[in-house]
Amino acid sequence: MNREVDHHHHTRRPTTTAAFAAGVVLNLAFVVVEAVFGVLSDSLALLTDAGHNLSDVLGLLLAWGAAALAGKRPSTRRTYGYSRATIIASLFSGLLLMGAVGAIGWEAFNRLLEPAEPAGKTIMIVAAIGVVINTATALLFLSGKDSDLNIRGAFLHMAADAACPWAWSPRAR
Ligand SMILES: [Zn+2]
Repeated sequence: MNREVDHHHHTRRPTTTAAFAAGVVLNLAFVVVEAVFGVLSDSLALLTDAGHNLSDVLGLLLAWGAAALAGKRPSTRRTYGYSRATIIASLFSGLLLMGAVGAIGWEAFNRLLEPAEPAGKTIMIVAAIGVVINTATALLFLSGKDSDLNIRGAFLHMAADAACPWAWSPRAR
């Protein structure tokens, strides 16, 4: 977390706004895809991942808001500026992710007790779409990842999500 030694109040480049906007739209679309196919194929894996990605969208919105606030100039009342907002947003998106991990863990535990037929093919196809979307989103934040804690977080998170489906999809339900 020693990234915050950088205290310049640089104005946000428009690319940051575009990256967050595109990231939110892409991931929101993927939430809808996962939810629809999750219901159609009665797949808990897809529904829980839809929940995970919905929390990712909220995390992106938080990071976006924080990045916008941090870009504002310090005022007479906020002499430090708004940089601290980015740190608080990082904390909240961390908490959101922990919530999502907890929900997925709980569902996985229940599935161990009551195994269901895997919806393998649908999951593979949706997971492949997810890899493309997560990779594209990670790339959106590639150039800004060294300038802001939240952009760095968004980049690392999306890169990890992009790599993830190949670990779980063959055995997923
Ligand atoms: Zn995620």
